[in-house]
Amino acid sequence: MAEQVPLDFLGDLRRTHNCGQLRAADAGKRALVMGWVHRRRDLGGIIFIHLRDRFGITQIVFEADIDSAIHAKAEMLRSEFVVAVEGKILLRTADTINPTLDTGEVELFVDKVWILNESRTPPFPMDDADNINEDARLKYRYVDLRRPSVQRNIILRSKVAFAARQELDKMGFLEIETPFMTKSTPEGARDFLVPSRINPGQFYALPQSPQIFKQLLMVAGYEKYFQIVRCFRDEDLRADRQPEFTQIDLEMSFPQQDRIFEVIEPLLVRVFEEAGFKIEAPFPRITHAQAMSSYGIDKPDLRLPPFYQVNDLFPADSGLFTHDLPLVAIHIPKTGQLSRKERDDLRAFGLPMGLRVYDDLKRLDRDFPEAMAKVRERASIADDDLLMLAAWAGEPEGHLPDHTVFKACGQFRLEAARRFNDRHQLLDPKVFKFLWVVDFPMFEWDFEDKRWMAAHHPFTSVLDEDIDKLVNDPARCRAKSYDIVLNGVELGSGSIRIHRRDVQSKVFSALGFSEEEAKRRFGFLLEALEYGAPPHGGIALGLDRLVMILCGLTSIRDVIPFPKTAKGTDLMCEAPSTVPEKNLRDLHISVLGPKPK
Ligand code: ASP
Repeated sequence: MAEQVPLDFLGDLRRTHNCGQLRAADAGKRALVMGWVHRRRDLGGIIFIHLRDRFGITQIVFEADIDSAIHAKAEMLRSEFVVAVEGKILLRTADTINPTLDTGEVELFVDKVWILNESRTPPFPMDDADNINEDARLKYRYVDLRRPSVQRNIILRSKVAFAARQELDKMGFLEIETPFMTKSTPEGARDFLVPSRINPGQFYALPQSPQIFKQLLMVAGYEKYFQIVRCFRDEDLRADRQPEFTQIDLEMSFPQQDRIFEVIEPLLVRVFEEAGFKIEAPFPRITHAQAMSSYGIDKPDLRLPPFYQVNDLFPADSGLFTHDLPLVAIHIPKTGQLSRKERDDLRAFGLPMGLRVYDDLKRLDRDFPEAMAKVRERASIADDDLLMLAAWAGEPEGHLPDHTVFKACGQFRLEAARRFNDRHQLLDPKVFKFLWVVDFPMFEWDFEDKRWMAAHHPFTSVLDEDIDKLVNDPARCRAKSYDIVLNGVELGSGSIRIHRRDVQSKVFSALGFSEEEAKRRFGFLLEALEYGAPPHGGIALGLDRLVMILCGLTSIRDVIPFPKTAKGTDLMCEAPSTVPEKNLRDLHISVLGPKPK
């Protein structure tokens, strides 16, 4: 910094107002405010500064002819300097009112100023420009977090968490903590491990979720538990995934699925209200099987209409589909006819996914007039909707399940909607379409390991009528599990749990765990189930995703105060990092491969 800035002490200075508070009615009074220099305009004899704190911005004015010493001090102020100022609140003249500021009808004429701290030139502009390099934002996260647009997200996050707590408290839930240093919880990711110094060679795992502990709390008779809790999963990161993330996690005793929905629906209504949105509950429900055959995905985006299978409307020798594989009518509302190029591009997008797309409506209408009329009727197609038929391209290798075709259609439908979204705002982020997806399959086949995996987690109950299939027909077992989906995003999942030791053993064995392995990994849970475990169930909502959607954003990094990059690093504190040899020795650890620097 070029010139030496004389700094003042805070002493016993006390704010009379914050920077978002002053209004026309305050004109004539005095005020003492503190904050950061947001913007500065020096017109020579008069300096205008936008002073900012987390509550807002107030224009403060330094006039040379009021006090030249103060004006001289104001000349030293630069972006992000921290100051306290005192002065008189005056009404602005009609032509200088600033309608973009809550405080825009007044300004504060300063007669005392204290410079509490200076600042290096900020690494990026503090204004709401969104084109700032993300690495710079993460490296100087404390500066980034000070930007009003980012503060809005973090403030909303706090409000949402608080509203969730209040609502759950009102419904009789207790907030109970569970350990972070624990044993592996199987949620399908890798564990983060913590070495134990006093137990050489042994490790704690950070919880992928509090799943087992919340079940134990039900065994322990707490009936209604919740926690806004950090979970840790070592997996590949994406825009909506972080190695540590936060869940609104809850569990209840004696519930059916509907009891859980009766908690989550009002909770979400309240949380959305907190963010200024009104949503309607109860939410619609569909089964997993319906979701797959109507949307080709287990988290349908209901802002778009479903697709329809239409084989039955066409003659078997139409040549449009082969081997009875689905012929699917996909429509995207209001998108109208596409240009030649748009059609070619879209078809080319479908092909690598295995889809042949028929988009020449004139030809289809000419060749199959009756069938096409019925397609339009079945799918309620309006004149300005974009309509296409899709079928499997080429010969399937071996047995091809229908849902492979549906899945491709689902991806295709989303891509088409995204491409033409600009024209009609089909995917309006302020339209909130909730949906419960229920009756998920109990197991999924893992092609790599050639074994059944729990589709949710291994503590999930099977539907009562499918219990006999556990051993003989796992592929057709359906689970008492449910997802809450919002605009195509999985906001949370949960299930009714297994509360009987014999059933839990059967499920472990269907998953290929030997009795010994089940005991080694989950012996304490199995034992707990023998001590009067009540029927219980629960759910967890992703808080980060929820806040992200409420803020109209697409990356959870924007709603997490100190997030990691896609490579799992913290650019600000440079974690992870190597540690001195001595620390490793204390932990009885030696590192293979390149020596740590
Ligand atoms: N533990 C589950 C999860 O993290 C949620 C639940 O089943 O309650 O997805």
